[in-house]
Amino acid sequence: MNDTSVDMTEFHWLMDMVQSIDVGLIVMDRDHKITVWNTFMENHSDKSSNFVRSKVLFDLFPDTPLDWIRTKIDSVFKLENRAFSTWEQRPYLLEFSNYHPITGSCTYMYQNISIIPLRSTKGSVDHVCLIIYDVTNIASQRKELHSANRQLEELSRTDALTQLNNRGYWEKCLQLEYRRFQRDHVPKTLIILDIDHFKAINDTYGHPAGDLIIQEVANSLRSNQRDTDISGRYGGEEYVIILGNVTEKSARIFSERLRTNIEKLVVNYTDVELSVTVSLGLAELTEDCTDPKDWLSRADKALYGAKETGRNKSVLFSSMPK
Ligand code: GH3
Ligand code: MG
Ligand code: MG
Repeated sequence: MNDTSVDMTEFHWLMDMVQSIDVGLIVMDRDHKITVWNTFMENHSDKSSNFVRSKVLFDLFPDTPLDWIRTKIDSVFKLENRAFSTWEQRPYLLEFSNYHPITGSCTYMYQNISIIPLRSTKGSVDHVCLIIYDVTNIASQRKELHSANRQLEELSRTDALTQLNNRGYWEKCLQLEYRRFQRDHVPKTLIILDIDHFKAINDTYGHPAGDLIIQEVANSLRSNQRDTDISGRYGGEEYVIILGNVTEKSARIFSERLRTNIEKLVVNYTDVELSVTVSLGLAELTEDCTDPKDWLSRADKALYGAKETGRNKSVLFSSMPK
């Protein structure tokens, strides 16, 4: 066996490997005409290597936007350096179906792409090789982790019974809103709402009935507020809401509408119809507020005033006797 036949054997081995390797390989010349299209590409594209040979990649997939890869390929020819694209930048080069059973949530194959210049024996780069890696498993795991983290984040700031912001998260918002006011001085009003004689509901109809009332009052709060308002469940049957860009006077209109809507609510629990009223304390954030706690305690004082003077009403902190 002479040297040339050894070379040829090795070349065949190499071709076998190129064909059976589990990544996509495309070799093309400077005119983007395909010279190599391996089995991976045949299987996923449904186009045989005979069919694609000498055809221009971009003509074969006219519906796929490929200008971005054309730019990259041309820069590899020009600079004679490798180029890459990850699934995070572009999910795929060519849209292939995803057949992975465990990543059934992905409908298509996520791909990382490398483009490498191929140097001829004369030293010139007349061809490039595109390597297409199937990274669907990695992409779907990353996406699932991302969505699990988002859910956890959501859970850690949401009250389980009402789906309103929980106390911890709402208090963070309170601090942010307080600091924002120090910069922009745009008015904002805080309201504390407390269900009247709630203990009697629990005592008469049981805790589940009380829970249902807590949920219904939360729903009413949610449907009355604007997207920019920040509401939360502060404690058992106490709620808080910060109305952005709203003075105490305008907040009172909101507060009274909410109060009367809740008063009209009829909650069906087993075979009884339950109704509740609420008391509300309002405090606009003013320059003389010393800190977020002070702001909150002003609204709390106003709430106490509402309770003291008969319940089922809204009381403004500014109208309280000093
Ligand atoms: P007031 O008009 O003065 O507000 O009277 P109230 O009875 O509403 O006030 P109080 O603070 O005495 O009662 C609140 C009750 O809320 C006491 C507690 O058992 C109940 N509670 C707290 N959290 C929950 C909860 O998650 N579910 C239910 N069902 N009850 C709760
Ligand atoms: Mg109460
Ligand atoms: Mg209470």
